[in-house]
Formats: sequence, C-alpha cells, structure tokens
Amino acid sequence: ASPAAVDPAGEQLRRNRTFSSAQERYYHRPPQIERGWRHHLVDTGGRSYVDLVNNVTGLGHGHPAVAAAAAEQLRLLNTNSRFLYRSLADYGERLVALAPEGLDTVMLVNSGTEAVDLALRLAWAATGRRTVVALREAYHGWSIGADAVTTSAYDNPHALASRPDWVHVADVPNPLRGTHRGLGAGVGYAEDLAADLERLDAEGRPVAGFICEPILGNAGGVLPPAGYLAEAYAAVRAHGGLCIADEVQVGFGRTGEFWAFTAQGAVPDIITIAKPMGNGYPIGGVITTRAIAEALGHEGMFFSSAGGSPVGCRVGLAVLDAMEDEGLERNARMVGAHLKARLEALGERHQLVAHVHGVGLYLGVELVRDRQTLEPAAAEAAAICERLLTLGVIVQPTSERRNVLKVKPPLCLTMESADFVVEALDHVLSTGW
Ligand code: PMP
Repeated sequence: ASPAAVDPAGEQLRRNRTFSSAQERYYHRPPQIERGWRHHLVDTGGRSYVDLVNNVTGLGHGHPAVAAAAAEQLRLLNTNSRFLYRSLADYGERLVALAPEGLDTVMLVNSGTEAVDLALRLAWAATGRRTVVALREAYHGWSIGADAVTTSAYDNPHALASRPDWVHVADVPNPLRGTHRGLGAGVGYAEDLAADLERLDAEGRPVAGFICEPILGNAGGVLPPAGYLAEAYAAVRAHGGLCIADEVQVGFGRTGEFWAFTAQGAVPDIITIAKPMGNGYPIGGVITTRAIAEALGHEGMFFSSAGGSPVGCRVGLAVLDAMEDEGLERNARMVGAHLKARLEALGERHQLVAHVHGVGLYLGVELVRDRQTLEPAAAEAAAICERLLTLGVIVQPTSERRNVLKVKPPLCLTMESADFVVEALDHVLSTGW
C-alpha cells in the first residue's frame, strides 16, 4: 500500500537539513518519487512519468530478476572476494567474452569513479609515466583522480584553471560548435591531438594515457566526427600511451551496440564500466589486457571490499541475462533511431531545436536561440524541462552550456513512450514554456 501522500516542499526542507548544497538538484520543486517500473517513475501522489534520464537502470526500474538475484544471494552469502565462489568466475568470463579480443582481464569495484581512478593507476603503472590527456567538457567522477580528468565547467566553473599538472586538456571534438566543423573535422581534431602529444614529448612529459567517452556524453551526447577516435588512438599509441574508453554512461548496449567505441572503429586498451552493470546496485570495473592489469601488481595490491562480491556478481549476471533475453541492445537501436528521427523532425518546425546529437538511446537535443551564432538556449532548456515534468516527462539539461536536453532512458523504452515524449515536447515548443 502507498504511504500517505507526502508534501514535497517539506521533504525538500528535510533533505536540505542533512545533505549539503554541493549535491545537485535539478528541479525547482523535485517530485517525491516512490517507485519505478520499467521506464516509468511514479510519485507519492500516484502520478507517473516517462523517465528519459535514468541510464543507471538500463533494464528499467524494479526489474524482478535483479531483485530476485540480490535477495537470494544476500540470504546465502555476501563477503569480499578473498574466497572462491562460482559467480565471480562466471561474471568475469561473461564480461571478457563481451570485450574485444585481447582485453581478457577484469577488475571489479563499486562505481564509475573508482573504475576511472583504477584505469588511471593502470595507465601509470603500465607505462611508468604520469601525464594523462583528457578532453574538454568531460566528466569522469568525483574522486581526486577522476575529478582531475574532469574538465567540464558544468561541474566546476574553475575546472580548467585548477587541473593538476599531470593532466593535459585537449580540445573537445564537437563537429557542431568546435574548432573544426563538417567533413574532415575528425582528421582536424586528431591532428590537433597529435600536435599536443608532440609538445608533451618535447616538454619531457610524455603521455601515459588518453581518456575520453567514445560518445561525448557530458558534452551533450556529441558523436565525435568520423575517424576521430581511431586516429586519436593511433596517435596516442604512436607516442607510447594507453587508450582508456570511459563506457560508464555510453556502454552496455545503450548505443544499439554493446560498446560505444565499436561504431567508431576504435579498440581501447582499458575500458571503464559501471552504472548499468548493476541496474542500480553499485558495481563498477575495468576490462583490460593481462599485461596492463599485472603491471599494477608490481606497485602494490589491488583490493576492494565489496568489488566483486557474491551479490554484485549475481546482480551483474542477472543484468547481462536480462539484456539478452529482452533484446535490449536491439531495442535501443530501433527505438533510438525512431526517437532521433522524430526529434530531428521537430527541428524542421521549431527554430529552437538546432541539432539532435547521439545514437541509439543516448541522444542530446541541442537548443539554440540563433542557428547562425548557435547562442545556447539555456534558460529555455531549463523552463522546458520544468514544463515537461508537469506533462509527465522527466528530462534534464546537460552540457556546460546547459542547453542540451539529455535523453538516456532505460533501454526498455517503447515506441509508444518515445512518441508520447516527442508529442509532449512538440506541445511545449508550440504553446510556450
Ligand atoms: N564516467 C562517466 C562518463 C560518468 O558519466 C560518470 C557518472 N556520471 C562517472 C564516470 C562516475 O560514475 P559514478 O557516479 O558511478 O562514480
């Protein structure tokens, strides 16, 4: 039975009393969410919303197989990975089977932040070097290591001025509003990166690792221009560095393929994974080569109390099983293509909708005031999100210009719900916000 309806304003006061203001809240008056089912969220008043932003629950909310796996294993055993248990080996094998050839070793942690931190340490240990190249407008996590390679002014207005000296920040390959545009932009950005790597060599601080999302998620779901990632990886390797693909957001079937780097024709040396691995249960990890993983052993030990726990592994296996059984990768491809085409069609009637970034169920709807100057429509994006909430759609702004509507729903989104969302957005764009 539902608890008595809660006063959201009162709940917000209670939350603010015990949590810090550094924790982000998106809405003027956030709804009080009580439960979730598939790609829907339901508030304490019984109001349901289509959830366009929860990329952690890749399978959808409240998945019974995940709940059953966790509950059963919690009753049986949950301990750290000092012991042998079957699900650990099973999970490791399943993850490695999904990875490109040669990436045959897994390390399990509890979050994306930890996965990124571990990837940086692996790159340092395997190369004996220190410099990490990250892209502008990136988010990779909140710990000291992962935050160092986080360059987005969305998260920290002083991000660029305050990166530690082992971080080199390279240009973000945005073909819509960056230094290079149109055909040839991929080569242009890759050449700029190669020039940066030359300079780093000359300064005596050669690259240890290059980290980026294969789709620039936090820059607004931007697809790097054709050829960029493959050329960038080739340049990094030519300079003796390792390539880290941060697949925490964009991996695990979201683009319609299991990995986002596949469509870019690029194969990394280290993959970081987290969010959808546990469908909300905290699991993270890296997949890399044996040689790179072993290098860390020369520097010390790697141990995570809950990373690779029996419950984590059972949940992880249940997620992979459900993804297969429910054809979610295919659904992301089909529903994503339909949604993208319909959102692009909105751009023909509404000047504000300048571009739809991304692929599969990782899209970004870029709103501008002027298509020539590309002046970001940030206030409009915020108001549109507030209005969509009242119409039963949860969507939020992203990119450091805060003018991109981020679309990254559970992968079970249906065609009907995709249509509902487009019609709601069309209505808001037509009637005002
Ligand atoms: N990498 C990327 C690309 C992310 O988007 C995030 C989280 N938004 C992280 C890493 C950090 O993951 P977590 O929040 O699980 O620590």
